[in-house]
Amino acid sequence: MKNVIFIAPPAAGKGTISEYLVNKYNYKYISTGDILRNIVKENSKLGTEVKRRMEEGELIGDDIILPLFKEELLKIKEEPFILDGMPRNLEQGKYLDDLFNELNVNNYRVINIVIESDLLEKRVTGRRICSSCKKTYNIFFDEFKPLTENICNHCGSPLISRGDDNLETFKTRIEKYKLETEPLIKYYKEKNKLTNVEATKPQTEIIRDVEKIIEDNQ
Ligand code: AMP
Repeated sequence: MKNVIFIAPPAAGKGTISEYLVNKYNYKYISTGDILRNIVKENSKLGTEVKRRMEEGELIGDDIILPLFKEELLKIKEEPFILDGMPRNLEQGKYLDDLFNELNVNNYRVINIVIESDLLEKRVTGRRICSSCKKTYNIFFDEFKPLTENICNHCGSPLISRGDDNLETFKTRIEKYKLETEPLIKYYKEKNKLTNVEATKPQTEIIRDVEKIIEDNQ
């Protein structure tokens, strides 16, 4: 099974695809966004600074995120893994290359999730997350609305918005994505590591495309 690196704008659906792969194939999952959200919960000075930058839609400095990410990657032994949110810019891409060389990781594929900005805006601003079991919903799409307004279908806990899921932050995040993350698409294409997946298709087709990529022996 191939290791997977997702490159995708905010709310393109990489979290949902990852959840499926983790359940079906036992992938280890590293989300740099989750690592940072855990730091925010600590209520430390670093947590306050990270929270501020995340809420502004800015990237967190490499000096903070890279050592934390490395620590998580080193915990994974032989199991296949998914990287969600890393790398986020060319410098991080080069850092990851060095790390992969050090760890002898070559069996990976970069999945570029392609989706238009208009759809993303609705996905981001309508996203609600269960405060307890973390299941996600969207109030703008019938198939993802909770049965009862603001209540989780699964565990009955209240739903909340992520602090960075508002329109203003979304706009900054998309801008950062275009400026900082999109150059990675060319970078991985030139290395022959990139496959595009269209995210406007039905979920079952997206999953089928991704499964083909990870099971491919090339
Ligand atoms: P995500 O959950 O991937 O959407 O990330 C949420 C936020 O965490 C981003 O908008 C950034 O502020 C921060 N973040 C996540 N991953 C990285 C990274 N690799 N480098 C810098 N900042 C990051």
